[in-house]
Amino acid sequence: MARQPTMKALVYLGPGKIAWETVPTPEILHPTDALVKITKTTICGTDLHILKGDVPAVGSGRILGHEGVGIIEEVGSAVRGFKKSDHVLISCITSCGRCGYCKRQMYAHCEDGGWILGHLIDGTQAEYVRIPHADNSLYPIAAGKDEEALVMLSDIFPTGFEIGVLSGAVKPGDVVAIIGAGPIGMAALLTAKLYSPGKIIMVDTDHFRLDTARKFGATDVVNSADGDAVKAILAQTKDGVDVAIEAVGIPQTFNICQRIVRPGGHIANIGVHGKGVELELQKLWIQNITLTTGLVNTNTTPMLLKTVESKQLMPEALITHHFKLDQILRAYEVFGNAASENALKVIISNA
Ligand SMILES: [Zn+2]
Ligand SMILES: [Zn+2]
Repeated sequence: MARQPTMKALVYLGPGKIAWETVPTPEILHPTDALVKITKTTICGTDLHILKGDVPAVGSGRILGHEGVGIIEEVGSAVRGFKKSDHVLISCITSCGRCGYCKRQMYAHCEDGGWILGHLIDGTQAEYVRIPHADNSLYPIAAGKDEEALVMLSDIFPTGFEIGVLSGAVKPGDVVAIIGAGPIGMAALLTAKLYSPGKIIMVDTDHFRLDTARKFGATDVVNSADGDAVKAILAQTKDGVDVAIEAVGIPQTFNICQRIVRPGGHIANIGVHGKGVELELQKLWIQNITLTTGLVNTNTTPMLLKTVESKQLMPEALITHHFKLDQILRAYEVFGNAASENALKVIISNA
């Protein structure tokens, strides 16, 4: 049966405005493209940033979303690794696999890709999505896998792991503090455990999230609502933490990181910052610290898939809510009020 010429999608219409609209179904534009029928997608904190108008590159009319799993509907003539009906995981990062950055596995900076889905091209919060450079930007899902769990591997697990845990150089026995117990902070927590740190201190202002963090293996939790998080963390470490992971993206949480890191320690910034922070270089210059930043490369996705397969990682633990695709506006409300809704990740199904 021929595909319908139109489909439903979540469309951004400028700051504060999204709508569930009928739009043209995407088509193959380049031989390296694949057209994927979305089966499950989700909403990212970054989508909320876009909705606030923090990402001006996203124009009115853009279909949002950069995470999801689906089934290949059609492939371009140059796609070799996938065929119609294959189940696939969509990476939030598109990569050509050929440019200088791709050769260094810095897919985030691919000269013909990077984070473009739901940003510079139409994204995954729709019935269908066009995926450029399909061979390098999709991952096969074997039959019988928990596809909901794998939606967590489009973005948040690689991001928490690569930009938090690997950049922060978490080692066995380390004291790790994670500032922000949202989905990204939780992904950093769950993947930090792969390295057996001695202590994981989770910091947030929300009781539900801190309780959840304990269930996920945080050894200590600190509620930063009273503004004394630095004191509370330093009180339980000898000279500060080995690794401070910033998973919020505001000056207050970055400040906690730069005030709790021990000499020789790491600050790994994951948060998306909308405004500048004051780097206290007058104190840090003598401390031999390492400060890292980054956009996820998703070069660890194949490894993370193996840890899910072997049950070392259970990303489905982050899923708190389920919606149908045509309830996506409600899903945005719930995710946008995550604290009052006790929400972490929402799954949106195109049944
Ligand atoms: Zn995201
Ligand atoms: Zn490239």
